[in-house]
Amino acid sequence: MDYKDLANLIFPEAKEINYYEEKYPERNLKEGAIVTRIAPSPTGFIHIGGLYQGLIAKKIAKQTDGVFFIRIEDTDQKRQVENGTAEIINSLNKFGLNPDEGMIDETESKGNYGPYKQSMRKEIYQSYAKYLIEQGKAYPCFCSPEEIEEIRQKQEAAKIRPGYYGVWAKCRNLSIEEMAKKIEAGEKYIIRFKSPGREDRKIKHHDLIKGNVDFPENDQDIVIIKADGLPTYHFAHAIDDHLMRTTHVIRGDEWLSSVPLHLQLFHELGFKAPKYAHIAPIMKNDNGNKRKLSKRKDPEAAVSYYVEMGIPKEAVNEYLLNIANSNFENWRRANKDASIDEFELQINKMSVSGALFDMVKLLDVGKTVISKFTAEEVYNQSLEWAENYDKDLAEILKKDKEYALKVFGIERGNKKPRKDIAKWSDVRENIEYMYDEMFNSKKQEYNYQVISDKESIEKILKLYIEKYYNENDDKQTWFDKIKELAGEMGYAKEVKEFKANPGKYKAHVGDVSTVLRVALTGRTNTPDMYEIMQILGKDRIKSRFEKGI
Ligand code: GLU
Repeated sequence: MDYKDLANLIFPEAKEINYYEEKYPERNLKEGAIVTRIAPSPTGFIHIGGLYQGLIAKKIAKQTDGVFFIRIEDTDQKRQVENGTAEIINSLNKFGLNPDEGMIDETESKGNYGPYKQSMRKEIYQSYAKYLIEQGKAYPCFCSPEEIEEIRQKQEAAKIRPGYYGVWAKCRNLSIEEMAKKIEAGEKYIIRFKSPGREDRKIKHHDLIKGNVDFPENDQDIVIIKADGLPTYHFAHAIDDHLMRTTHVIRGDEWLSSVPLHLQLFHELGFKAPKYAHIAPIMKNDNGNKRKLSKRKDPEAAVSYYVEMGIPKEAVNEYLLNIANSNFENWRRANKDASIDEFELQINKMSVSGALFDMVKLLDVGKTVISKFTAEEVYNQSLEWAENYDKDLAEILKKDKEYALKVFGIERGNKKPRKDIAKWSDVRENIEYMYDEMFNSKKQEYNYQVISDKESIEKILKLYIEKYYNENDDKQTWFDKIKELAGEMGYAKEVKEFKANPGKYKAHVGDVSTVLRVALTGRTNTPDMYEIMQILGKDRIKSRFEKGI
């Protein structure tokens, strides 16, 4: 009996690997084109770090006219949740991470290198496991979980490296006949890789992000096919990224230490290894301590958080590029209106240690991004958000689209557009004073500022509406009239004048404007008041003033 017979005994049905090598040929892409992927598990949850990896992987592929695909890694059946694949795909789509190939739904996929879900590739893995067994590079292991545990305890007691290797790898040295006998007797087994490595030898690896790293060779006989017939991550990674013709594996740096094993697997399988780029995790400043964004502790670790808050995908993506490449900021300054697609991401310029995530900065990016949207875009996106997270607001927006467009159009489309909205959940508080139903149903605080005595306020509001306000005034005339009103009240008509003679005036034209603004909107800060008044119209201004008094 030889290895071939053993392989046939274990996987009698498995196809020759040539079948797959031909079925999934080298991709016909232009020189230098990069093929990348993200490979999430279908847990339904995406960490912001996963989105970050996906964005980088897609960008690198797109920059070179390459291919970006999504593979679902569901070989750990315990971690599955129902509809987990569809949820992941939908979340990624929400951030524009639509793949060229791969899963597009719970069960549907597109592309010629599928299936793109590992549980559907069982026979492929088995063919390659058979191929390794045929060459004596893999073997069945009959150790029970109890025996493995026993080995671990012995190693721990003797303070030596844990694992299934060298003298500890009991089944590695069984004869072919012994193995066959056990299999025929119905003993349970898994398949292990027979590592050719030695711990006292070093390998050199060049990582696109981490640079040159030295590692001891791998000498662990890792499991490649588990008891359920499915592969482990390591084996599936080698097979899939080979057959899907991935050129660059861009993944979290928790996998960096597995590189010696992965390179060994590629080598023993006769595959060309991909290039690796290991991304440092996104960190958070927690009271001066830098730590990883944690799924358990930080709501902002989940991609769903950004959707719920209504932070537009454009802002999230822009911010993530910001932390990916430190030269992004300069690029943005020089290319204010360019799409982020035009930014050339350099993977080798990514930071070796984790970039710090700063929510304040992200929201700032959000403000700038939204300030560049047209009123129509603001309307559409905030309505879409409101339909899911603020039904009342959605109803109000839908009731009169034309009016909503006017409201969103205030101070927009000009050189210095309004920047008061960072996320769609800010929309309500920034437009409610433009809607009587929202304005009146909320208790207004009326924080009058410099001019705060009832008498003066009443006088200003009355005079303004009865004597000065005219709907047909242009902006200059409108403002001149507020100055006149200030003069009539004995305040300085110009701020300059006020400053030049501090003792002479109690207040100036700006303070009069503030009175008007507070009475009108309940706020001390709003976008352009002229435009607000134009939209509200005289009757509504009047009733606001009456309420304000
Ligand atoms: N399923 C693995 C993970 O979620 C993928 C790692 C990789 O990109 O190779 O960590």
